Amino acid sequence: MGKWIPDLDDVAGLSANERLVLDCIDEDAVIAFHRGLVQIPSVNPPGDVREAIHYCEAPLKLAGFSTEVVSTDEIMPNLIARFGPERGPVLGFNAHVDVVPIGERSAWRHDPFGAEIEDGKIYGRGAGDDKASVTAQVMAGLALAKCGVPLTGQLVINEVADEEAGGFKGAAFVSEREFFTPDFMIVGEQTFNGIALGEKGASPTRITVRGRTAHGALPWEGANAIEAMAEIIVALRRDYWPVVATRTSPIFHPSSASVNLFEGGIKSNVVPDFAQIYVDRRLVPGEQPAEVVKEIEAIAMEAVAALPGITVEVGEVYPGGEATSTPAESPLVKAMIGANQRLGLSTELGGFSMATDGRFWARQGIPTIIYGPGDPKLAHVPDEWIGIDELLQATLAYALAAVALLTQESR
Ligand SMILES: [Zn+2]
Repeated sequence: MGKWIPDLDDVAGLSANERLVLDCIDEDAVIAFHRGLVQIPSVNPPGDVREAIHYCEAPLKLAGFSTEVVSTDEIMPNLIARFGPERGPVLGFNAHVDVVPIGERSAWRHDPFGAEIEDGKIYGRGAGDDKASVTAQVMAGLALAKCGVPLTGQLVINEVADEEAGGFKGAAFVSEREFFTPDFMIVGEQTFNGIALGEKGASPTRITVRGRTAHGALPWEGANAIEAMAEIIVALRRDYWPVVATRTSPIFHPSSASVNLFEGGIKSNVVPDFAQIYVDRRLVPGEQPAEVVKEIEAIAMEAVAALPGITVEVGEVYPGGEATSTPAESPLVKAMIGANQRLGLSTELGGFSMATDGRFWARQGIPTIIYGPGDPKLAHVPDEWIGIDELLQATLAYALAAVALLTQESR
């Protein structure tokens, strides 16, 4: 109990175990841990998270977790902290300790690594993305260990490096090497403490147009790659974007597409023989990355078919992936719904638009949801902040989900 945590007598339907665990969450300790973590500048690039990982490991070890640090890159360690019996279900908590650079310092009103508190908010780079989730997971784990509730399964807290650079040395490495295999995985990212059953897929597509160079004064001698690319972009916007927008899902925003990079030309008086664009395609369930590339290719080919001297190449920039979605009937989803019900938070089931480390776990067939405090629109911007209220709510919610999945108690 305190300024932000509700009086437990006011929380309806709490079991004895739930009450015991929630009683072990101290709000001053949660705030202090979060501020200390934000004050560690674990910026990626370069992605050195050694201090941040050690900061998370120390209290867990002290509380009785067995901890292991694994890495494929010395400066990018990943924490695996286990508590509870090996037999029985394994619940994983995953979030990332690396943060994006601060950008222009002058755009910040607050010290990016000061963790200053103002009006119930903590400010700083990573305050939301993703150190609020990390904090809530670690503090929920500490409460579970300290409260002494007998566990029928194991909690594994996995705080990782490298998410902001693709996750390949972080969650991808940890999940693919199977250092542990969770039966349920909760990935902490900013969902406003709502339940996201999965995340959209992606099909990162590159279109390359080649033509023929010529003197800018004699354009008829060349084949202008930029002008050809313009035809392709117009065709995509006219013939493809509307089709993409009709592909919807009950839990996700509609399928989407956007041309996000353009490259071409070498000099103002030279007809360009090269132009390239990057199409950022985000997929809803049912869309296959390979099919999507073919759709884009067909439109691109058609758009420049009548232009002499122009060729087009369409391909994936790196391997895409389908959207992921855990069934609503999963015990994991039910546990999270139960937690949010008790805390008076939303029990609506949604999907996450951005890519997260959750995709690595989900693609291993592990039921995975995304749940965490914060607003995704505040991620990566100046004066990023987290509400202390939502930080504490997430701590309570993670703890309640762990009790539901790792203890035996009839309500
Ligand atoms: Zn994040």
